[in-house]
Amino acid sequence: MAEGIIVKALSGYYYVESEGQRFACKARGRFRLDGSTPLVGDCVQFITDTNGGGRIERLEKRKNFFIRPAVANIDTLVFIAANVNPVTDPFLIDRISVIAAEAPCRLLICINKVDLDSGDRLFEIFSGAGFRVIRTSAKTGRGLEELREALKGRICAFTGNSGVGKSSILNALLPEARIKTADVSEKLGRGRHTTRHVEIYTLEENTYIADTPGFSSLDLTMTNTIMKEQLQYDFPDFTPFLGKCRFQDCAHLKEPDCAVTEAVRKGHINEGRYRSYVRLYELSAQHRFWEYKEEG
Ligand code: GDP
Ligand code: ZN
Repeated sequence: MAEGIIVKALSGYYYVESEGQRFACKARGRFRLDGSTPLVGDCVQFITDTNGGGRIERLEKRKNFFIRPAVANIDTLVFIAANVNPVTDPFLIDRISVIAAEAPCRLLICINKVDLDSGDRLFEIFSGAGFRVIRTSAKTGRGLEELREALKGRICAFTGNSGVGKSSILNALLPEARIKTADVSEKLGRGRHTTRHVEIYTLEENTYIADTPGFSSLDLTMTNTIMKEQLQYDFPDFTPFLGKCRFQDCAHLKEPDCAVTEAVRKGHINEGRYRSYVRLYELSAQHRFWEYKEEG
């Protein structure tokens, strides 16, 4: 039996890449019966046939998976932000950072359009909170090599609000994939329920980038809701202060002798990050974590 990774799913076929070769495989029926449908990103064992095709026999255990986009085993979620045209709301990044922590996968924040605005404010907030932040310009090429380097040996998925330059960056990294930046017919076809063809593109050996045409960044959907009590652990900048509050079950809201709110007062935790925590805590309490509307 051969081992490989599903790099594309289309019309009932799973395209499995193994040692530099691609096999058009069918999946065994029992995956459907036990509820596990193969996903792009899945590591599989498969039997090859003589026509360059094959049959998937076994799915390996997943590290994580997302519903939209339907991709498994994401190592790095790359969030593309900008501080100009459009200005990314830091709350959106905070929310995505929690989703990444829960998945779990690494979050890499990329501040794009630095030829127009350096994005210093976003850079300080998020590098200060312990995240890797890379400044790029798809226009001048600044930072793209650093980004390429940071993606090595992983499956990455890109997200970010519309217009920040997601397609431009993907095109610069993967010219051969030619993801269309301005294909109007494709953009018009961005219906919520249209079937999406999911594919991961090879950046280099063992490094893949997931892209789903028509995937709107705010559609990033996970399987689980997040418990409000769990949320504190998804803020890496809170970690040094957890377990140091007067009350063991402190929610870090209005409790006395709270180490987290004290750290905010002393400037050890960014105030905006803390406000996002409170906002997400309230949404979680109402089981409405996933609702987010972009303003404007
Ligand atoms: P997407 O919606 O996130 O995929 O964004 P696009 O890649 O389609 O880019 C939106 C617009 O911003 C296009 O007009 C791009 O040419 C422009 N753009 C993308 N990246 C940059 C950048 O780094 N600098 C500048 N000045 N413009 C950019
Ligand atoms: Zn507390």
